[in-house]
Amino acid sequence: MIEQPYVYRRAELTEPDWTRFPGWAQVTREEWESAQWQRAHCVKNIKQLRQVLGAGLSGEFCADLDRDQRERATMSMLVPPQMLNTMAPGTPAGAAEFTERFYADPVRRYMIPVFSDRRTDYPSHPYASRDSLHEAEMWAVEGLTHRYPTKVLAEVLPTCPQYCGHCTRMDLVGNPTPVIAKHKFTLAREDRLGAMIAYLKATPGVRDVVVSGGDVANLPWPRLEAFVAALLDIDSIRDIRLASKALMGLPQFWLSDEVRAGMERLGTTARQRGVSIAIHTHVNAAQSVTPLVAKAARAMLETGIRDVRNQGVLLCGVNDSVQALLDLSFTLLDGANVMPYYFYMCDMIPGSEHWRMALSQAQDLQHQIMGYLPGFATPRIVCDVPYVGKRWVHQVSRYDTTLGISYWTKNYRTAVEADDPLALRREHAYYDPIHTLPAEGQRWWLDRARTAGAGLAPAGAALTPAAP
Ligand code: SF4
Repeated sequence: MIEQPYVYRRAELTEPDWTRFPGWAQVTREEWESAQWQRAHCVKNIKQLRQVLGAGLSGEFCADLDRDQRERATMSMLVPPQMLNTMAPGTPAGAAEFTERFYADPVRRYMIPVFSDRRTDYPSHPYASRDSLHEAEMWAVEGLTHRYPTKVLAEVLPTCPQYCGHCTRMDLVGNPTPVIAKHKFTLAREDRLGAMIAYLKATPGVRDVVVSGGDVANLPWPRLEAFVAALLDIDSIRDIRLASKALMGLPQFWLSDEVRAGMERLGTTARQRGVSIAIHTHVNAAQSVTPLVAKAARAMLETGIRDVRNQGVLLCGVNDSVQALLDLSFTLLDGANVMPYYFYMCDMIPGSEHWRMALSQAQDLQHQIMGYLPGFATPRIVCDVPYVGKRWVHQVSRYDTTLGISYWTKNYRTAVEADDPLALRREHAYYDPIHTLPAEGQRWWLDRARTAGAGLAPAGAALTPAAP
């Protein structure tokens, strides 16, 4: 037998026992499998977290969480029971080691971030910004980002059934936090969705629509079905992707009779018209793939849609190892028929430095995960470069590893560059976290911060590096 860096083992999916938490000790399977029950029992604050987990969660953890919510959090707390139940999965809430396991849990690390998780030297990169991908600048109509030549992103609503601490759309999505006010759509929803459909009818060069938000699972089903049906009526649209982390966070929604019947109607129409509908979900850790998540993914495939794919986010402390990425990919593929598709590098939003990694580390992870999964199911690790778009991590054109600055070019014009003669030659920068740089690079950033002062820093971000 040849020794390999990664050893494949087929994992059995498990739904952790939710009755191990005092707050859910009496919850029945029928309640658990109800989307209404899940939505009504989401954990939205520290008091509710303590009510569910009981005294096993230490006061120190709660104080740590409270400080994060007051001083750092860009997203408010919203955790469905389905997701909370996958944290510290094998540990009873009353066990002495519960808080320690909860602190260390990968799903907790991105869904319930605490102050001590974050970096204190550079909590944010000096060039971190809200809407770091400049999506709003590229809105063709409000909420419809036209960044690539043939595809658009339709932000149909600004809410989700769960809020991730690292959300790249922290500018728009979710409730305001003490440090981040949210952008508000100005148009009423019906006017906005109507304007999107009108734009797409008038723009036949667009063939691919990502229907996102937020999370489409928060749009009332009849409204979502009507929007997708209107897309199916536009002959030029050949690909429709529905973005829903809730396939994992709230699989009960996708398993409900109303949604299954509606997806069958959409799937039938799509097949008749030769259009592909896929669901794109967002799973970052293998333990999130429970039997109920697999059931929801398979139920969607049975409606006749083309595929269910995963777009995870590469996050330090969550999945920044070959083992974690391959375990997750195999669990998705073997256990739930979900295609591992992308891992995005975490975007440069405020407060994300403890989650972000250097491009060189992402390149190394891409190298290390090659050759184990089937080629069609080997996820690509991508960097979403501001003003450029998704690039495979090896597509960088230049990379200064001392200063942690990578330079990227592209082969199309975004919506804001229609008249820019240099658009196809211009280099756009992306930045490694400063704490990952060699001493010389860290010194350079520190000197720059001292001389540039506030000019280097986006307003509102906690940027000042600690004195050496
Ligand atoms: S589900 Fe997606 S849009 Fe919603 S908070 Fe998470 S990352 Fe953001």
